[in-house]
Amino acid sequence: MSLTMDTLVSLCKRRGFIFQSSEIYGGTGSCYDYGPLGVELKQNIKRLLWRDFVQSRADMVGIDASILMHPTVWKASGHLDHFTDPMVDCRECKLRFRADHVDTLPWTHYCPATKGNKFTIPPGEPCSHCGARRTLCPDCGKGELTAPRQFNLMFKTFMGPVEEDASVAYLRPETAQAMFVNFDNVLQSMRMKLPFGIAQAGRSFRNEITPGNFIFRTREFEQMEIEYFVNPHDTVEGRPADEYWHDRWIADCMAWFRRYGLSGENLRLREHDKDELSHYSKRTVDIDYRFPIGWSELMGIANRTDFDLRQHAKFSGKSLTYFDEERKEHVVPYVVEPAMGVDRALLAFMADAYVEEEVRGEKRVVLRFHPELAPVKVAVLPLLKKRDEIVRTARAIRADLAKQWRVVYDDTAAIGRLYRRQDEVGTPYCVTVDVQTVGDSEKGEAGDGEVTIRDRDSMEQARVPMDALPAVFHDLLNGGAWSQVAARYPAAK
Ligand SMILES: [Zn+2]
Ligand SMILES: [Zn+2]
Repeated sequence: MSLTMDTLVSLCKRRGFIFQSSEIYGGTGSCYDYGPLGVELKQNIKRLLWRDFVQSRADMVGIDASILMHPTVWKASGHLDHFTDPMVDCRECKLRFRADHVDTLPWTHYCPATKGNKFTIPPGEPCSHCGARRTLCPDCGKGELTAPRQFNLMFKTFMGPVEEDASVAYLRPETAQAMFVNFDNVLQSMRMKLPFGIAQAGRSFRNEITPGNFIFRTREFEQMEIEYFVNPHDTVEGRPADEYWHDRWIADCMAWFRRYGLSGENLRLREHDKDELSHYSKRTVDIDYRFPIGWSELMGIANRTDFDLRQHAKFSGKSLTYFDEERKEHVVPYVVEPAMGVDRALLAFMADAYVEEEVRGEKRVVLRFHPELAPVKVAVLPLLKKRDEIVRTARAIRADLAKQWRVVYDDTAAIGRLYRRQDEVGTPYCVTVDVQTVGDSEKGEAGDGEVTIRDRDSMEQARVPMDALPAVFHDLLNGGAWSQVAARYPAAK
């Protein structure tokens, strides 16, 4: 079985991961809202990125910059002049197309050889009746198309109350530029030594003409970018420092995706061809993922040389250099840029975690999330919701564990159904409170104070004392194996 995007979209909506934006008004084109579980998953991804690539490293710091920046930033970065797609317009129906996409669309044709009958012809093919090829608008089949014009992908707005040229501002199309324009602030305030990196996670905006494929390409998206500055005169292990660090970052990013569950067979590196490289890039490598739509870019890691710092020094008139104590000279650092789309990473983690299997003749859908990614870590379930003592105990366990993790309580169905629900959203562990736990005071039977923990992946169950739960989950949720719990505690029936 291969997972389709439709299956994923429907699971996301049904289980509160991702909704179409403004759905009750018919939706906003290619905008999505993260629901209660989606926001937890996304925050977990960002938190792990931040922990593993910023907090845990002595050579990294972070910033959180404004989305609105000085308009000259976009002049210096090249976005004003070059961040464009060639567009053509239909003079008749006014639809707009990317010039290089027009012949990838099916086209409408009123055929003169069949008294003007209307046909829809596959992309790039001629009419089978008259042999004509498409020259007019592919959509309405009547209008002529304008010559291609460059259309800038930045969202434009105005700062302040007056809509005039002097107050034009742009929503940032990437987070990277804030790291370059703050290079000296960070260098001086934090007394950084090369090599070091600045990271930022935040929203970016691109007015894509053809967004699509769910959250894969959207006009508003979240990025995590790192600008890693190196001294171009240094060598590491006999290689130029920028080349060494470029390879290190490629390996580190790849390892990061593997660590949190993406399987090796769904990941590959793709080297950009020379003619595909941006004019400033020395080398760019993409990490591609095998999404339900096929192999596509998950993140890119570029060696941007000293282009950005030089551009901003030129346009701002400020020096953006580093003083090399050893060589007693000012240098413009080179920069290696790992750039990741958080939404894409989320899509990849969901797709890779998705498993359909058969359990005792029934279909079971499981998201096998890494425990640190899982939106909900533990679900506490009462076996009988009519027994006050069971419900009270289960709620108390939830409240206690929720001091440390996202833990939910659910009593809205029978236990088998409750397990399936948690499997489908990737909750790694369930805790069940039953009669044995609390005993029966009317019959004078004392409870044993033990609960059942169920492991999502193996579906094995172990009987664990209630007061051991925080320690057990501390182990399990920080990389401990279920087999250790299974070895230490008796299996539950
Ligand atoms: Zn048209
Ligand atoms: Zn024809």
